Amino acid sequence: MERIRSNSPCWCGANAKYKRCHGDRRLLRRDRVQIGAVGPPRPVPDHIERPDYVITGTVGTPRSYQIQDDESLPRLRRACRVAAEVLQEAGRAVAPGVTTDEIDAIAHRAYIERGAYPSDLHYKGFPKSVCTSVNGVICHGVPDDRPLDDGDIVNVDVTAYVEGMHGDTSATFVVGAVDEPTRALVETTRQATLRGIDAVRPGEPIRRIGEAIEPFARSRGFTVVREYGGHGIGATFHAAPQVHHHIARHDTERFQVGMSFTVEPMLLSGGTSFTQADDGWTERIDDDMPSAQFEHTVLVTEAGAEILTVTADGIGATSRTSVAVPAPPA
Ligand SMILES: [Zn+2]
Repeated sequence: MERIRSNSPCWCGANAKYKRCHGDRRLLRRDRVQIGAVGPPRPVPDHIERPDYVITGTVGTPRSYQIQDDESLPRLRRACRVAAEVLQEAGRAVAPGVTTDEIDAIAHRAYIERGAYPSDLHYKGFPKSVCTSVNGVICHGVPDDRPLDDGDIVNVDVTAYVEGMHGDTSATFVVGAVDEPTRALVETTRQATLRGIDAVRPGEPIRRIGEAIEPFARSRGFTVVREYGGHGIGATFHAAPQVHHHIARHDTERFQVGMSFTVEPMLLSGGTSFTQADDGWTERIDDDMPSAQFEHTVLVTEAGAEILTVTADGIGATSRTSVAVPAPPA
């Protein structure tokens, strides 16, 4: 799939040039997200088990894969189910006028109610229980007192630590009424995430994920962040392998049955350069054009990949259809 050109017919099938339809940068453009005041970390009851890095204050650099067995897999399933439930509760709270700190409060309570520790909290000093990344913030936004505005998009990234396992999932939610090009960014990212997961086959190279995601994103006029990838996850929050969402020809690592990792592409609608804000966390795209991300924790099975970050009803980050856009022409 080729990258769509400005003067090409739009991928959506409308009788218009891409640059006058889903590629219209005037509609996509956003004001720079200003960083607000960040409140104190929320307390976690003593009876809830903490990850080691919270106790020691240091994060190791493990190079090992996370391979699940009959003992560990049920625990990972539980952590992932909790993460999906917390994300669902947080997502229901997204609305114009709601601050990202209020979303953090709702998520925090949802973790605690389920006996889970919010893995982000005190991870390398991160002060909050979820990441909330608005518009041109590509990732690691810190919940603050900025109210969400009608037409914003916000990614909420949840990681739950339960029974010695981390489950990690995120979704991008639309706030009120968003314009069509922005809606298409979100929907394309949702579909790209599922395409990446669908490409998993035991024994095949891990680069199959990026080979599925990047051409699809480019065919709709979006680019894929290269600097951040998915990661092995299980007893360790961030482990091997590094999962590229772009085409990485040099990557020769292969999927193994029982391997658990995240698939979490970030798609961009403009330039690709970004800068970390002074808070040491917030990664903001330099041209302030919006970015979107979805994330699941998955398990390699004999047949392919199973998405673990779903509720008991099978609902997860990518289940939403409220942002659907017309299918591209065949
Ligand atoms: Zn279009």
